Amino acid sequence: MVIVFGSANLDLVARVARLPRPGETLSGLDFAMLPGGKGANQALAARRSGAEVMFVGAVGDDPFAAMALAGLAAAGVGLAAVRRIAVPTGVALIHVDATGENCITVVPGANAHADPEAIPDAVLGPDATLVLQLEVPLPAVEAAAVRARRRGARVILNAAPVQALPAGLLAAIDVLVVNEHEARTIAAALGLPSVPQAFAGEFHRGLGKAAVVTLGALGVVAAAAGACYAGPAPAVAAVDTTGAGDAFTGALAAALDRRATWPRALAEGLAAGSLACTAAGAQQALPTAEAIAALATAAESSLVASALA
Ligand code: ADP
Repeated sequence: MVIVFGSANLDLVARVARLPRPGETLSGLDFAMLPGGKGANQALAARRSGAEVMFVGAVGDDPFAAMALAGLAAAGVGLAAVRRIAVPTGVALIHVDATGENCITVVPGANAHADPEAIPDAVLGPDATLVLQLEVPLPAVEAAAVRARRRGARVILNAAPVQALPAGLLAAIDVLVVNEHEARTIAAALGLPSVPQAFAGEFHRGLGKAAVVTLGALGVVAAAAGACYAGPAPAVAAVDTTGAGDAFTGALAAALDRRATWPRALAEGLAAGSLACTAAGAQQALPTAEAIAALATAAESSLVASALA
């Protein structure tokens, strides 16, 4: 089973001709309320990829809570361990202008109270994969990772939004997933090379953890189980890259959870990431397991494996 401990938000998106200036009131073009949050997005991505998934986090006791979780509920993600508390559900207030430029305020709200103790002991064992991101407080992320590791679960950390990673958290993970920008920040903090391939290799050799760096349309480089991998993303007509990284992480987690090989898991991540770019939005653009499988075989044969330098 894949357990995702993280954030759930409602994204309030206003399309505007141009972004408002301080003190100005503008008329918007249209408005949408879309479920989001990296935790919820990755839980849905793993579920669509075919895994049994439980989401653990916190939402408010307001009308936004059900809207933030509606996509997960409809897809059959387990929600019994989600805490409902007297704090507003997390929101992202988003303005997007005609050029696609945006301005975003994220209010964590209930996400700031996500409690790792809400993850039931019964699901945290050697057959479990715990997926974490950094949109809930770092001490909670670290506590979840440490507990999962003690109980023998695989721990995947998507270090986004990027921040300095405490040694205790790094020690408790099995797999780090980052984009190029996040990799550079973590490399600088750890004194590792910033070039993605070298970063992944050194991270794997030095810490004994797998490292996966996504490179947008250029695909992925990774170092895992004593080997290095590099391969392009399947070519697609990209219309909106929102949530591509979440699609990648969710699909990778689902594949590793069912004990797929590393090349296959990376290929499924690449396929899911690419497909997520072919439709607007985050959760509504997540591909099905069938669509991922249809692209993953070619993506796997384009992956180049080499020995860890
Ligand atoms: P993030 O969304 O976290 O910044 P990336 O931009 O690296 O992460 O994208 C994650 C994955 O999504 C990539 O590995 C790739 O599979 C896919 N992807 C992202 N952008 C594109 C694109 N323009 N064309 C095809 N695939 C893409």
